Amino acid sequence: MNTFPDLRLSRLRRTAGIRAMFDLEIPAPAKWCWPTFVVPGKGIKEEIASMPGQYRYSPDTLVSAVEKVVQQGVGSVLLFGQTDGVKDNGGSQAWHDHGAVQQAVRLLKSAFPHLTVMTDVCLCAYTDHGHCAPLRPDGSLDNDAACECLAKVALSHAAAGADVVAPSAMMDGQIAAIRAALTENDFNQTLLMAYSTKFASACYGPFRDAEDSAPQLRPGMPADRKGYQASYANPRNALMESVLDEAEGADILMVKPALFYLDMVRAVREQTLLPVAAYNVSGEYSMLIATARQGWGDLDELVRESTMGIVRAGADLIISYWASEYERFFGKR
Ligand SMILES: [Zn+2]
Repeated sequence: MNTFPDLRLSRLRRTAGIRAMFDLEIPAPAKWCWPTFVVPGKGIKEEIASMPGQYRYSPDTLVSAVEKVVQQGVGSVLLFGQTDGVKDNGGSQAWHDHGAVQQAVRLLKSAFPHLTVMTDVCLCAYTDHGHCAPLRPDGSLDNDAACECLAKVALSHAAAGADVVAPSAMMDGQIAAIRAALTENDFNQTLLMAYSTKFASACYGPFRDAEDSAPQLRPGMPADRKGYQASYANPRNALMESVLDEAEGADILMVKPALFYLDMVRAVREQTLLPVAAYNVSGEYSMLIATARQGWGDLDELVRESTMGIVRAGADLIISYWASEYERFFGKR
């Protein structure tokens, strides 16, 4: 074998031009999805304190925000909703036909017919206790009732025109329940993206601030979501979630968070032929901004380097708040 001094790998890295020939590329904006937050009302655009540069929008202001994202070529958005209606045990406002998400889907699909509109399907922003399922009188989680509620939410989003519904509640059987409901109601072209491997993560803090969806602490109720979201210390159990979601009828599998779980992105990638999405979550977003603000790192470099980690792990679709600034971080396409 050719060795030093004949072999010098640095020759392949010497100039920007040589590196560019062989380096992987950041995926084009069409392979990105921008997650964002919709609230009821009109004329609202309020910055989320723990996620600088990201906002809560009412459906009308969301259209102009999405226009800037679409102009950069970003292919899809993922909407998270809130209600100003009465929160209840089952989160019934989540499937209200005139909810903020349902309104926003209709507006976006008419303004940008080629944009792929995805919706988060969950109950926690609509339940009075903040869990992703109704609670029984004894405070325990009612998984099967949640599946029925989630199917109603997914149907209301599909009826509004969502291209992709993305259930995130981590209830057993939720994919089968939603797929059956979609099929029965003739939504046979609605894609189902499973948050198949969603970990109980400390990286969701800023998101819960944005969504006002932190679980409430009340006697007799679970204090966190570790009872239903995947355990970061049990990768086989987490991987099994994605195997089951595929069997239940998912079209796309997602791993969430992304950067703390690159091994899981790779593991899911290797065990399925379905597309794999990686969700670069709020905490992963905000920690890079915090680092840069402290003067401990360059934000542009941090964003590009961490994104390439997601690419190397094998994600097909990158769901990331950085998508709204695609041109700044990754250049014009
Ligand atoms: Zn939830």
